[in-house]
Amino acid sequence: MEWTVFKLIAWTETYFRKHGVDSPRLTAEILLGFSLGIRRLDLYLQHDRPLENQELTAFKALIKRRKNHEPLAYITGEKGFFESSFQVGPGVLIPRPDTETLVTTALDLLAREPVKSSTVLELGTGSGAIVVSLAKASPKNRFFAGDISGQALDIARQNAGREGGAKIDFFQGSWFDALQQRPFWDMILSNPPYIPTSDIRHLAPEIKDHEPMTALDGGNDGLDCIRDIIGCACHYLVPGGHLLLEMGFDQKRKVMAAAQSCTAYDGIEFIKDLADHDRVVHLKKKID
Ligand code: GLN
Repeated sequence: MEWTVFKLIAWTETYFRKHGVDSPRLTAEILLGFSLGIRRLDLYLQHDRPLENQELTAFKALIKRRKNHEPLAYITGEKGFFESSFQVGPGVLIPRPDTETLVTTALDLLAREPVKSSTVLELGTGSGAIVVSLAKASPKNRFFAGDISGQALDIARQNAGREGGAKIDFFQGSWFDALQQRPFWDMILSNPPYIPTSDIRHLAPEIKDHEPMTALDGGNDGLDCIRDIIGCACHYLVPGGHLLLEMGFDQKRKVMAAAQSCTAYDGIEFIKDLADHDRVVHLKKKID
C-alpha cells in the first residue's frame, strides 16, 4: 500500500487513540506537519501526496516518542501561548493556557497607568512566555526576568529575540537572591512551583517524567515558594506596588492565610481562570 498524507494521518490517529494519547487527530496532524516541514493547512492541500521512505522513517520516530509520553511541545520545540508561539524544550515548563490569566491580570493593571512606565519583575521565568507576552503587549514598561536555570534563560532570551527583540533584561538567580533589597518594583509576578510533593507521582507521565521538577514541586503543601515570595516581595515593591502569583485552584484558603500573616499588604484579590478556578492572587503593598 502506498502511504499518502491522508492515509498516514488516519492510521496515526487510530494508533494514538489506542494508546491513550491526548487529542489523537490533532496530534497526528501537528506531528506530520512538523515532520514534513509544512503547515497543517498544507496537509489538507496535499492530502494525496505519497510519502517517501525516509519521510516515513522520520515520522515513525516521532510517533514513537509521543506514544512514549514525551510532550508534543518538546517534540516540535514550540508551544502557542497568549498571542505568540514560544520555543520550549526539556528544562523549561511548557506554558499552560491557565497561565494566560496571570498575563491578562498584569496587563489590566499596567493599563491603569497609561502614561507612566512601570518597572516589572518576573521571577522564575522559564521559557520567558509570560514576560515576553507582557513586553510585546505593553512595550512602554521596563521588564526584568530571572531564573535559577541558565538553560531556561538561554531559551527565554531566544524567545525575547524572536518577538521583535522584546526589551527585557534577564538575570540568573533564585527568586530575589540576585537583586538589591530596596523598594524599586511597581509589579512583581511569578508562576512558581505550587504542586504538593506527594501529588507529583499522580501527574501524567508527560509532566512527571519530562518537565522540570524545580518548576512544579512546591514542597509539602505546595505553598513553599508562594509563602517565600509573599514574605520577601514587600521589601522590593514600591508602596502601592502589585504582587501577582499563579496558584493551584484549591489553594485559596492557604494563600489567604499566607497573605494575612504579612502586614505589608492591604489588598488581596483572587482572579479566576477560564475554567472558573481561583488561579491568580493579587496583593497590593500598603502605601505607607
Ligand atoms: N499548572 C501546572 C500543572 O498543573 C503547575 C504549574 C506550577 O506548579 N507552577 O502542571
